[in-house]
Amino acid sequence: MYRFQEAGRSMTTARPSARSRQPMKSNLTAGQNERPPGRLRAHLALLQELPFKHWLLALLLWLALSAGMALFGHALVIERYREGFQQSAQQIKQELESRLKVSETLLFGLSEMLGYHPGLSVDRFYNYALEASRRYPFIYTMSYLPKVAARERSGFEQSLPLTDPSAPYIKDHPMAIANDWRNRRGWVPAPDRAVYFPWLIAAPALAKEDDALTGFDMLNDQLFGPVLQKAFRSGETEVTTPFVMMNGETALGYVRAIYRTTPPPEEPGQRTGQVTGSVVLIVRINGLLEQHYPLNNRLSVGLSLYGDAPTPLEKTVYQAMPSANPSSLEVLLLPKLSARLPVDIPYFPYELVVEEQVPESVIQPAILLAALIFSGALCYLMAVVMAQNVRTRRHREDAVDDLYRERGHAMVTLQAINDAVLTVDTQMRVRYLNPMAVKLLGIDPELAVGRPVYQTMQLRYEFARQAVADPIMLCLQRGQGVDLAENCVLAPPDREPLLIEGSVSPLFDRGGELFGAVMAFRNTAPLRQRMLEALEASEKRLRQHEVELARVGRINTMGEMASGIAHELNQPLSAIVSYCQAALSFLDDAEPNKEMVVKALQSSVSQADRAGQIIHRLRAFVTKSQQQWVPVDLNLSVANVMTLAEYDLRTSQIHVTTHLEPGLPLVFADTIQIEQVVLNLLRNAIDAVQARPGWGEMTLETGLIDDRVCLTVRDNGCGLPEEVLDHLFDPFFTTKQHGMGLGLTICHSIVESFGGRLSARNRLEGGAEFRMELPRLSPGHFAQQAASERTI
Ligand code: ADP
Repeated sequence: MYRFQEAGRSMTTARPSARSRQPMKSNLTAGQNERPPGRLRAHLALLQELPFKHWLLALLLWLALSAGMALFGHALVIERYREGFQQSAQQIKQELESRLKVSETLLFGLSEMLGYHPGLSVDRFYNYALEASRRYPFIYTMSYLPKVAARERSGFEQSLPLTDPSAPYIKDHPMAIANDWRNRRGWVPAPDRAVYFPWLIAAPALAKEDDALTGFDMLNDQLFGPVLQKAFRSGETEVTTPFVMMNGETALGYVRAIYRTTPPPEEPGQRTGQVTGSVVLIVRINGLLEQHYPLNNRLSVGLSLYGDAPTPLEKTVYQAMPSANPSSLEVLLLPKLSARLPVDIPYFPYELVVEEQVPESVIQPAILLAALIFSGALCYLMAVVMAQNVRTRRHREDAVDDLYRERGHAMVTLQAINDAVLTVDTQMRVRYLNPMAVKLLGIDPELAVGRPVYQTMQLRYEFARQAVADPIMLCLQRGQGVDLAENCVLAPPDREPLLIEGSVSPLFDRGGELFGAVMAFRNTAPLRQRMLEALEASEKRLRQHEVELARVGRINTMGEMASGIAHELNQPLSAIVSYCQAALSFLDDAEPNKEMVVKALQSSVSQADRAGQIIHRLRAFVTKSQQQWVPVDLNLSVANVMTLAEYDLRTSQIHVTTHLEPGLPLVFADTIQIEQVVLNLLRNAIDAVQARPGWGEMTLETGLIDDRVCLTVRDNGCGLPEEVLDHLFDPFFTTKQHGMGLGLTICHSIVESFGGRLSARNRLEGGAEFRMELPRLSPGHFAQQAASERTI
């Protein structure tokens, strides 16, 4: 569990930092290789992790944002344009109001003038009107309508100017619906009426076709009649609805009554009786709305009835269309600005309507470009953030996966291991028990978890001389691992006590805070059993090895003995043969049974030959036929011998140093015989060291010298006297009291049989040095072995 925690921690902390801690390589060569620098590459890699749908989302957002920003930008531009438009509309309105007031003032002046001077001459009136229209071009004409009673009609008709012979009379136009006076055939003499208000003077002079108006009883006209009546009653200036004049222009008629008395009576009914005439001023609407300064040619200016009207169409009384036609793109994309401005004149029931189609010139590519770039940057940033989020989420998922995997491993391990594992928190309450812990403690895990650990597990210490601290508490206090004391016994209730061993380790969280401890322990009974068995098996092997070594040693000893006997016996046997041969020659001179003597002596010779052959065969058998040639590791042989001689060395106060060359080549030999040689050299060295007082020193060193595998045994013993050196390897040569003098002889013949060499010398610093050299293993050795087997 603890290892698992550690692994989890290292995993979660190391993983994100691994990338972030990667040093930024200075990438001078990157430009040369045309590869993006490290930071850019990392950035591109980050973006590549973004799923397609996120890219699509970012793209759509980019387009939407661009459109929104472009619209917003253009809305601001259009708003500025609208302000200019409003200013223009206000100017037009002010101009209109001032012209209306001028018209009213002119009319008022004229009416007052005619009221005071009823007999005002036509010329003066005409000049006045002419001057006014010259100054104010919007004035179309001015007219005086005298009140003509029925009895005054004929006198008045006779006084009319005869500019148009066809109309020197007070007349009506039965079809005189508004705007239809051009039809000359419609004029008829007015029937008898109590009073007439005929059109008298038109100044400036009207167009030719309008001359027919002279004598026209305006009171009977459908358009002017009601307005005249209204003006008579109100005493104020009244205005007609717009009408189209004979020249095609739209005009308005201002009407004001002239009273006999000044001021006129207050009662409207009485006022009408006091009327002596009326003045009419006709203004061109076009002229009213006409501007003296250059205006936007896209403006459409008009008049509309103020207040409610049945239909918008009826509301609009005049509309001057703009000179420039808007393009279909403008109509489709851009708004039409409109301003309806009430005219601040009480009798003027119209409002000014100004309209303008916003031109396509307000569409600015720079705004569009800026919107694309700005929103593109925003969306790119958003994509980067999304990619970072995706990466973070993926890392988190990976980490969680790893965590679960590690947890799975840890749980399976904890279930499977033979050690008991128990974890506790800092309050020493049990948090977890693995199956082996449950088994050893003999408790129900459901009941154990959450309970104090001392209720679950009782520990005592056999043969303890002093009180032993609780290992879990100690671990939690110190924050470091604690081994269970020796002879720790677990005493489960109603069960045999168990001798256990183990340790308690602290658990730390990511912040290094201690959050519990884990105790791992095991029952030592099976372990001890296994160790005993292993020990026994090892001893058995050792004994077998020794037996084998002794057996081979015996064989070798016998062989050498036989070899020595043969060596010793060959001389006398040869002498016997010589003497026998001499006897035979002596017998040649005497008379005894010569043939019998010869036969006996020949038998004796053949017997002696046979004995020599038997001895020879025995020697050959001992040195060669018992050998088992195999590849041998000399280091291993030395180690085996050291194990065998360990007891002797320990008890003989000798300090042994071994230098075993690692990777030493193998040799081709008989393992047992090689070990026999090593053991013999070791024993001789022990004898030599013990032959002098004090501590002994011995060194065993393996190595490769001139391509031959060597073992050198050095000691600081008595050394080799000069006279001994020559006979060292002779059979039965010994300087020891109970020595046989065969050990080195056997070693010599064994080493030579493997193609090696055994040599000895004295050391300068005292003591002897024996060196065994063997040829290293080669393919030829196997062929040689096969040949020798065939020989046997
Ligand atoms: P043995 O040990 O029975 O005497 P060996 O053939 O093993 O027979 O030894 C022959 C003799 O060589 C020994 O008696 C001893 O005099 C001499 N010898 C062998 N090894 C050493 C040694 N390490 N130091 C001194 N003398 C040695």
